[in-house]
Amino acid sequence: MPVKNENSTSFVDEVRIISRWAYFIALLAFLSLPALVAFIARFDPSNPSIAVVAFAGILTGTFLACYVLLIGYINRDAGRRGMNRVLWTLLAIFIPNGLGIVLYFVLRKPRTANCPQCGAAVEPGFAFCPRCRHRLAPVCPQCQRSVNAGDTFCPYCGADVAPTVNA
Ligand SMILES: [Zn+2]
Ligand SMILES: [Zn+2]
Repeated sequence: MPVKNENSTSFVDEVRIISRWAYFIALLAFLSLPALVAFIARFDPSNPSIAVVAFAGILTGTFLACYVLLIGYINRDAGRRGMNRVLWTLLAIFIPNGLGIVLYFVLRKPRTANCPQCGAAVEPGFAFCPRCRHRLAPVCPQCQRSVNAGDTFCPYCGADVAPTVNA
């Protein structure tokens, strides 16, 4: 079974890793911010209209909910990239202006996949699992280098790989 390539994960798959807790906190933020803004607005001497207060509440609520979901995503995503989950979650929360989040997406490592047979971490491009020798990607029978599914000839030595790849 070939290991899923990083490029083949869709946006939906990415969103799916966010934990239920992050959704719960995001929903709380989204619902409570309009109430908080309405409460603060009562003390505003300029006496803003209900429409302005509602708009400001929904805007800040949406912003905070997105912020929470991004932090929830980083919390899970860091783990599958072999990065420190706690450290990056704290950085995302406490570095102001969302810079911790930006920093994470700039510095994050390529995702490590797992061997479907033994669960060992394998890097993209590995043809065999280094722990149990499970075949992760089709290899050329002549030079043993990994070839892509769908290839007919080996791009390195020119051997006919169609019988192996399509087997
Ligand atoms: Zn393995
Ligand atoms: Zn070859």
